[in-house]
Order: sequence, then C-alpha cells, then structure tokens
Amino acid sequence: MAIIDGKAISAQIRSEIKAEAEALTAKGVRPGLAVILVGTDPASQIYVRNKQKACEEVGFYSDTYTLAETTTEKELLDLIEILNLRKDIHGILVQSPVPKHINPDTVINAILPEKDVDCFHPENVGKLMTGNPRFLPCTPAGVVELIKRSGVDISGKECVVVGRSNIVGKPQAIMLLAENGTVTVCHSRTKNLAEVTRRADILVVAIGKSEFITGDMVKPGAVVLDVGMNRNSEGKLTGDVNFAEVSEIASLITPVPGGVGPMTITMLLQNTITAAKAAL
Ligand code: NDP
Repeated sequence: MAIIDGKAISAQIRSEIKAEAEALTAKGVRPGLAVILVGTDPASQIYVRNKQKACEEVGFYSDTYTLAETTTEKELLDLIEILNLRKDIHGILVQSPVPKHINPDTVINAILPEKDVDCFHPENVGKLMTGNPRFLPCTPAGVVELIKRSGVDISGKECVVVGRSNIVGKPQAIMLLAENGTVTVCHSRTKNLAEVTRRADILVVAIGKSEFITGDMVKPGAVVLDVGMNRNSEGKLTGDVNFAEVSEIASLITPVPGGVGPMTITMLLQNTITAAKAAL
C-alpha cells in the first residue's frame, strides 16, 4: 500500500500555478479572486482565511469581503454585481453556507458564469455535463488530479462514487465518466452497498460519516480517495474511510488530513488562472 500525499501533490501544482500567475501578470493580467463571507461561522472563517493565504502565496490579487450576518440578499447581490463588472477580479466565490434568509441558488445565479470559479452556476454545470467544461468543480477535480498524478489510468476502470451531492458526488461521477471510467454512483438508498463498493478499482467516498467504509467493503488493490472531513467523538479530524483497515487492502489511499483536502483550494486557484487567461 502507498499513501497518496495530497500535500506534496498540491504544493507541486501550486508552484506551477505561481509560475503561470507570474507569466499572466507580466502580460498585464494579474489573476484576481474575490471571496465573500456572510456571517461568522467559524469553519467558514478558516476556509476563507486559507483561500486568501493561498492566493497570496501564488501571487494573485485577492479581495475578501466579510459581511454581517444581517446582510440582506439584495445587498449581497449588489456587491456581486459590482464584482461582476470589475476587470481586476476574475473569480468570485461566496463561501457557503449563507445565512438562512439568503437563497443560495439566487446567489450562485447572480455570479457571472465566466467568474464562477467554484463551478456551481447552472451554465457551468451544464457545460461540464456536456463535455465542454469552462471550469472544473474544485473537490472532484482535486480527486481526479490525485489519481492521475499517482500514475493511475482511469480509462476502463470500475469507478464507484459513494455520495451524490451537487458539490462532490454528482460532478465526481461526471468527471470520472469523462475520463472513460465505468461509473457507479451510490447513496443512502443503495442496497448492498458493500457489494457495489467491492467492485471498485477506484473508490471515491464523500458521505460525511466518520470511518464508514471498512476493510471488508474494499477490493484488494483498489485505489481509494477519501473526501470526508468529519470530527469523531474525540474531536479528531477523520475521513469517511477507516484508514487503519482499508490501508491494509488498498494499493493507494488518501489520508485525512493531507489527502483530498489540500487539493480543493489548489483547484480553485487553477480555475482562477483559467478565468484570468480568458480575460487576456
Ligand atoms: P452531503 O451531506 O451533501 O452528501 C452526502 C451524500 O452521502 C448524500 O448523497 C447521501 O445520500 C450519501 N450518504 C449518506 N449516508 C450514506 C450511507 N450510509 N450510505 C451511502 N451513502 C450515504 O455531503 P457532501 O457531499 O457535501 O460532503 C461529503 C463529505 O465530504 C463531508 O464529510 C464533507 O465535509 C466532505 N467535503 C470535503 C471537501 C474537501 O475539500 N475535502 C469538500 C466538500 C465536502 P442521499 O443523497 O441519499 O442522502
């Protein structure tokens, strides 16, 4: 068994992004990302800070807007409209979740698709679905990148995705299909889950349940990507995969932390590069 080192792969990609940012800046287009946080959710504050830090490290311009919990939907939409028009901002991201009085779909729809670096706008989801992506959704793109940079060919492989959220599971399935995998998607109503997961050459798990996938659910030699980020009863960060058991069986596996996690922001930076290039 070998561990897929998400931190090392992420650092490698970020150094490539930094070089691209320098080249773009030399041509007069410094990649710019605006991040909007509404409210004071502590986890969101950490995510936003990490995104800002990552932008600084690769030489992007970044603007962070921290808005009060009481901000109205109209006020948020007005800010997005201003950012849509700004030439120095290539990517706009509204950190989720937004407060309950704001409709997240309305917010996503307000972002100019060309600046939707999270790849949540229906136009961008449609383009991904039809095989003509403008951006790639960050977490699933990170997973595909980890598989490829570990030297694994996805083409023709049995790929099983556990989870069907709009942010991870569904786009993950579409992306593995685009790589010519034979894809099965599982969810909470799947019958005989272990039977399905045991078929996987490549198993991607995104369910949000600490150490749910056990050794008996995995085929010997499988490649296992663990998207989960949970706190167990002792407050420790855990994945959706029981690492101690599954690492004995898999050929390659991502740890939590240090696997898929670091790749999400890296792919956000990559999308911002894509958006900046389109503005050249
Ligand atoms: P959601 O809660 O939106 O979706 C969970 C999915 O898992 C659903 O499709 C659900 O099925 C399925 N599911 C739940 N229980 C079971 C079960 N017992 N058996 C099979 N399927 C099940 O979660 P997300 O997709 O947003 O996130 C999943 C995990 O990934 C979380 O731990 C989250 O923190 C993490 N995450 C990590 C990121 C990173 O950067 N590393 C980014 C995003 C998420 P159903 O649809 O039937 O309800």
